[in-house]
Amino acid sequence: MNLIEIKNLKKFFEISKGSFVHAVDGISIDIRQNEILGLVGESGSGKSTLGKVIAGLHGRSSGEVKYQGELLPEVYKASDFLRLSKEIQMIFQDPYSSLNPRMTVEEIIGEGLKIQGVPSAEVRKKVKEWLEKVGLQSEHMSRFPHEFSGGQRQRIGIARAMIVEPSFIVCDEPISALDVSVQAQVVNLLKELKDSFGLTLLFIAHDLSMVRYISDRIAVMYLGKIVECGDADEVFFNPQHPYSKLLIDSNPIADPQKEKLREFKSIEGEIPSPVNIPEGCRFAGRCPSASEECGKVTPQLKSIADGHEVACHLFK
Ligand code: SF4
Repeated sequence: MNLIEIKNLKKFFEISKGSFVHAVDGISIDIRQNEILGLVGESGSGKSTLGKVIAGLHGRSSGEVKYQGELLPEVYKASDFLRLSKEIQMIFQDPYSSLNPRMTVEEIIGEGLKIQGVPSAEVRKKVKEWLEKVGLQSEHMSRFPHEFSGGQRQRIGIARAMIVEPSFIVCDEPISALDVSVQAQVVNLLKELKDSFGLTLLFIAHDLSMVRYISDRIAVMYLGKIVECGDADEVFFNPQHPYSKLLIDSNPIADPQKEKLREFKSIEGEIPSPVNIPEGCRFAGRCPSASEECGKVTPQLKSIADGHEVACHLFK
């Protein structure tokens, strides 16, 4: 069963009269109940914008986002935020700037419940419970964000999202700003919470190995479009789109011995400007398999195997 259904979603930002950044450009994808969908791609591919549109932090330019079958508003009003924040939450990339430095941990984590009118004593009790669930202690309640490490701050961010008991969380690069040693702890915490509370997550990240580890399915995004989507192991070990292959080949291997031995392949060139979108396949200028057709015709996402879709002219 699908929790989120996205149809032909577009989000453009006008940067000057008649000139637009095509951040999300016609995406259709479903997110199933109780799954973790990993979303990967280089910086500038539109991943974070897609996450923010789904979470209602950006309005959409066109297309549909449905949550449990309900069409969500194009632009949220205050009343929509109040109602939908009980269902849909977001965990942000930077645990340093996403927590208000003037608020105590109790105020930060309890804010969502307070806005919903939950009595103070109940909020306090829940904050204590959630601090413990994310591996912190109740004596941390009266402290300020600067007194914590990056990993601890991200745990505070997770508790803030979880306390309202949402069904769906957009995790926008939640481990990118953390030390490698802490990344696995945060990913394991999210995995545990998903299993214990039947959560559904959109997990946006750069680190493909971590995305494969946490995700049930992976979607690969390039310049505003999904170019490949499928079961996490299938996409990671058997990628079919030339961009996915290069992205996975350029991902560092955690084992230093294996990393030393492997042939490193990088993706040539830069991701094109999202303002001047090239005609045809958006990856054609960097693709080792590009043909004449690729520069003219935009490939559509097609099923190549059960649950595995690719947008590439190599697959007819
Ligand atoms: Fe490469 Fe052509 Fe496939 Fe695009 S459509 S990824 S340019 S082969």
